[in-house]
Amino acid sequence: MNEHEALYSQKGPPTLDEMTGPEVEAALKHTDVLLLPVGATEAHGAHLPLGTDSFEARENCRRAALRLESLGCPVIIGPVIPFGASSFHLGFAGTISLSSRTMISLLTEVCLSLYETGFRKFALVHGHDGNLPVMMVAAQDLVDQTPDAQAMVLNWLTPLSKVYHTIQTSKKQEGHGGEGETARILVTHPQLVKLEQAVKHHVPPEDMRKIQGPEHIKTGGGIFYATRRYKDHTPYGHIGDPALATAETGNKGYDVIAEWLARVIARDYFGKDLDPNSATPTPAPPQSFLRTGQV
Ligand SMILES: [Zn+2]
Repeated sequence: MNEHEALYSQKGPPTLDEMTGPEVEAALKHTDVLLLPVGATEAHGAHLPLGTDSFEARENCRRAALRLESLGCPVIIGPVIPFGASSFHLGFAGTISLSSRTMISLLTEVCLSLYETGFRKFALVHGHDGNLPVMMVAAQDLVDQTPDAQAMVLNWLTPLSKVYHTIQTSKKQEGHGGEGETARILVTHPQLVKLEQAVKHHVPPEDMRKIQGPEHIKTGGGIFYATRRYKDHTPYGHIGDPALATAETGNKGYDVIAEWLARVIARDYFGKDLDPNSATPTPAPPQSFLRTGQV
């Protein structure tokens, strides 16, 4: 690969900001479904880039889009929202946090603009679970402010946390920037992962229960624990043992996430008779789709 290709080659499905207006118009003849990746710019330890959550949100949507294409359910992705509600990660260098009110306005106005373009069905996909509350409010606002938009927020942490123990090698519960998340960035941005800087840091089970345990609402439980300062739990910005991460594990995680996302969207926006919790993978996407990157 020469330098130009390395810098600018486009593989897989494009995001909206990589398309032209006429391309979006043409795609809208086949679909009115938008997958919106909602990321963040926040610290993930010394070994992961600040854009980790944006990269993950984008990849979740791209992989889901490939599976949806194979099911005959075309969608458009993006643009990636690069900022999030990351207040509890402030205190670590490089973290950018928008207030909840700003995030709600930002997400609602992005969706309303794309509604104007012709999108009607919106699936908001996070890369940072701290965005879930504002994503839910924005989705509701969108529906309230339009006569016929549909909107849903998809929290893939719930299906992933059910099978994490079969995917990760760590015997302890891994958290933000730990084995699982590091593994996923090793897939998409290996050149940005500094495993030699990875520090092992676990927190007491009692703390972990409140950060992301089975009772926490973001992983399928019924309790919301507001987080004050992540720095109180970790001086590094991450929790877990990132050195255990491999791209193979990352791919397994992405597969679980993308499969679930695709099945929910195919069922709820395309009327497909699919069980989101089925373990049977969807068929491989058509090669033409992979080659041209066209929706
Ligand atoms: Zn993250």
